[in-house]
Amino acid sequence: MKAAVLEAVKNLVVKEVPTPKATGNMALIHVKSCGICLTDYKAYSGDRTNVKFPAICGHEFAGIIEKLGENVRFFKHGDEVICAPVANCGVCSECRKGFAQYCKQGAVIGGDGMKNVLDGAFAEYTLVPENALFKKPKNITFDAAALTEPLAGSYKGLIEYSQLRVTEDLVIIGAGSMGLLAAMIAQRAGANTIIMIDVSDWRLAYSKKCGATHLVNSTKVDAKKAVYDIIPDGPDLVFEAAGPLPAAQLMFDLCRRGTRVNEFGVTTEGTIQVSPANIHWMETRMDASFSVYPRVMQQSIKLQEKGFVDAGKIITHRLPLEKIQEGMDLMKKEERVKVIINP
Ligand SMILES: [Zn+2]
Ligand SMILES: [Zn+2]
Repeated sequence: MKAAVLEAVKNLVVKEVPTPKATGNMALIHVKSCGICLTDYKAYSGDRTNVKFPAICGHEFAGIIEKLGENVRFFKHGDEVICAPVANCGVCSECRKGFAQYCKQGAVIGGDGMKNVLDGAFAEYTLVPENALFKKPKNITFDAAALTEPLAGSYKGLIEYSQLRVTEDLVIIGAGSMGLLAAMIAQRAGANTIIMIDVSDWRLAYSKKCGATHLVNSTKVDAKKAVYDIIPDGPDLVFEAAGPLPAAQLMFDLCRRGTRVNEFGVTTEGTIQVSPANIHWMETRMDASFSVYPRVMQQSIKLQEKGFVDAGKIITHRLPLEKIQEGMDLMKKEERVKVIINP
């Protein structure tokens, strides 16, 4: 089969490799669509720690079942499926507490967040354990279905962890894929104000299509003043989906008493300054969120199947596997949101 093999930092080669064999509880998936995530780019650029070369990245994907291991019970050849990138055991104490993303025996398929990494979906075929497969409703395209995992990630952070409620005033920092998906979910969930903060006018304009009600360019205005001009009482919830450390600092700076915050975007090392006394007197409610577990995958499929959220709205580019290098180069560009690879 053809695969995009990351041989070393910044050395991505599309070449023939052996097609993996489906045994046990594994299914061989013919990949139809796979999104490029910033964590894939970080593997490429050398900013991620859990990459062992050679590696096949890609963890946001959907496809068709080609072959089944002998122990697969609920799926058959030809089923259209959405894949979660978390292969968890289901038996360890973390799994039984409901935290599949902390699984002690777990592995991540082509992604980040776990020590063990399996080959991902920047390839014609990839292996996925049965408990990470979900049936794809016919009315969701493969390209949109590939975005079920990032949508589930934003849903988990915004709704399950930070409990966004109808009529609340929300600030999202970062109009990238995750921030835009969060804006769409927030709009559907009945947020009153959805203020989007970013450093790019192009991305801010794009976020309007995804439900942002107010746009703030933090390189041009004082972001805190701009937010308090729009909502004098301050935000109920601040969702940091940008990634750089100053965004995390801004998240705390925007708080009024009782604001909830979610540290969602920062995945690299570094520290910021916060005052515990401030947090105490302000009763700042702190949350964070990474990866997904089965329930949020299921909910995210439902959001799309019912037409509540169209994850496909964030797709700006589609490329065949042969042109994946072009996709990686696009990740550095301002005028792109989600790049989809169609192997
Ligand atoms: Zn991702
Ligand atoms: Zn487990």
